[in-house]
Amino acid sequence: MRKLVLLFMLAVALSSQVAFAQESQPNPKQPSALAGTDSPEALREHVPVLPAVRAKYWDIDPAVGYGMKDFGNCVYALSDNGWQSAFLVTDAGVIVFDAPASYGKHIPEAVAKVTNKPIKVLVYSHIHKDHIGGSAAFKNSPGLQIIALDTVSDFLKEMNDPNRLIPTETFKTSKTIKLGGKTVELTRHNYHSNEGDLFIYVPEAKFLMAVDSVTSGYVPFQDFDLSTNFHQYLKMFDEILAYKFDNFIGGHLTDTGTRKDIEITKEYTNDVYQTVKRIHNGLNERAFDAEIAKTIGPDNEFLIFKALLDKVTRDSVGELEPRWINRLAGVDVWLPSHVRAALIYVRWDDKE
Ligand SMILES: [Zn+2]
Repeated sequence: MRKLVLLFMLAVALSSQVAFAQESQPNPKQPSALAGTDSPEALREHVPVLPAVRAKYWDIDPAVGYGMKDFGNCVYALSDNGWQSAFLVTDAGVIVFDAPASYGKHIPEAVAKVTNKPIKVLVYSHIHKDHIGGSAAFKNSPGLQIIALDTVSDFLKEMNDPNRLIPTETFKTSKTIKLGGKTVELTRHNYHSNEGDLFIYVPEAKFLMAVDSVTSGYVPFQDFDLSTNFHQYLKMFDEILAYKFDNFIGGHLTDTGTRKDIEITKEYTNDVYQTVKRIHNGLNERAFDAEIAKTIGPDNEFLIFKALLDKVTRDSVGELEPRWINRLAGVDVWLPSHVRAALIYVRWDDKE
């Protein structure tokens, strides 16, 4: 009987340790990034969001639909825990940076909470509707200037989307807005969407916004934030770090960022790139293809090639996941897509 009690106590102690380990330090036996999403069992193989990241969720009243954070020097950040935007209050009116589809309609009331100045300027970071598809809320703002890249404007004119108002003023590479004693610097970059992306900088507030670049606390979204240009994406980190800033908006999820967030995402991205490059370039393709052909014959070249791409992906994910799973959230969700994006670059664009 005593033995049974002792065994029972031991089991309780062990199970509470296991529960603690799962909570504080997700450490899956096999890469959880290779689990699927098509069954409850597969979903449960993924790890929970890192507690330190989850703790930074904004407490947002669903009836209000957004939260606001004062960055100082008249810059305010907005978020609904999915998208982020910002605005700058000046003596002559307000400059709004992006109008996300999800809460864009609430931006005028958010602005009205901190100033009675009218909204004078709306800046578009890039073409994507999730970031500017709420601009219809500004349709009746008298004398509103909408500023965007020329290529962004061309695209929006072609789309003629009532949810994305057509810009009234465009530029090619850079533009400085001066309003009510404040300055905003807009600069063209090409790390994300085909029609170009803006860095939006308020020097006085040491505030930088680069949408769909870095998601603070998390790895980037799928395929390195849907980048259509991984070559430029790799350069983007140093381009961001060249600015003097204390507060950063990447456009997504909850936490606003600092230089540390850019640095860790740079380290992650370079690690993915270098690992994929080493594994891909180190593979003996001729021997690998011959081995696959033993099973399926030599004529199904698409399948043989897919087997090779899949092997590089699996081996890269297997090596990278343990290094990153406890440093950034979402590794198990998007790592395979990051490896694929890097693999496309390594195989088709990069030098040996
Ligand atoms: Zn985008």
